[in-house]
Amino acid sequence: MNPPKIIHRGRFAPSPTGRMHLGNVYCALLSYLSVKSKGGVWVLRIEDLDPQRSKPDFAKWIEDDLQWLGLDWDEGGSKGGTYAPYYQSQRTDYYASLFEKIGQQTYPCFCRRADLLAASAPHASDGRVLYAGTCRGLSSDEIMHRIVTQMPAYRLCLPHQEVSFVDGLYGYQSIDLQDFYGDFVLRRADGTYAYQLAVAADDAAMHITEVVRGNDLLSSTPAQLYLYKLLGLQAPSFTHVPLLMSSKSGERLSKRDGSLSMEALRLQGVKPEQIWGMLAHKIGLLRQEEPISAKDLIPLYDVNKLPKENIVVYSE
Ligand code: GLU
Repeated sequence: MNPPKIIHRGRFAPSPTGRMHLGNVYCALLSYLSVKSKGGVWVLRIEDLDPQRSKPDFAKWIEDDLQWLGLDWDEGGSKGGTYAPYYQSQRTDYYASLFEKIGQQTYPCFCRRADLLAASAPHASDGRVLYAGTCRGLSSDEIMHRIVTQMPAYRLCLPHQEVSFVDGLYGYQSIDLQDFYGDFVLRRADGTYAYQLAVAADDAAMHITEVVRGNDLLSSTPAQLYLYKLLGLQAPSFTHVPLLMSSKSGERLSKRDGSLSMEALRLQGVKPEQIWGMLAHKIGLLRQEEPISAKDLIPLYDVNKLPKENIVVYSE
């Protein structure tokens, strides 16, 4: 008897906070190629968690640009599908139910941004300020007293525990949860749920088997793996890919690199095949830069060919 067939499911999870740029479509391409090269399903999830920064118009542009690029997603976004809704802004009840499940391990935090910066908080090895744990020990009386006048955020109590995983490109990774993150926020004071909770919750609910995304999120993965474990959810595999860096700023591509926004590229008359040819050459899938469609790149995809170092692209 043949073993049951695995259905590979990957996703692209953009935040609709602006028009996509070359760096975003490059991440989209890699998650698409990775899952399509296994004959799988590619899902589009709109991560519009932040009500201040996300705009429905940008979500529409993301779909328009993906279509123009020939990156056809199988489910999600406005197409819907079995695990709808695919907009995080419409999934709050689900996040709330998971948050409740691990409520015992969270505590209300009344610190305001200014308090956090002013507190002599410990620093991580890379200089990030970690939460000092100021509200961890508040008594229930104190909480009742303060909650009347101020809505708290809720933080997750993290143990000193090593979490490790093997990244599909960068290999073995391991960190101590408490030393690396400090107690992180799961629900903000305005009631919105944090990225870490929403992303793990959704990848599990949408039966995502592989996450392929930029290496800027490599350090988020242990937090997400810990949440999967706490929530009793099945974690996907993780592959982080090098970022595209701007020749102009030396930093990762961003909205400031206007010449590489999808708007500018389309207005300049650049063709999708030229974009893919240039990127495929830079990541080692094509020996020479030549026009090619996203579909034709599927059989050429091999994670072992990808560079580990970030990739500089010309921006003006
Ligand atoms: N929404 C995140 C972003 O646009 C990506 C989240 C993820 O891929 O896990 O940066």
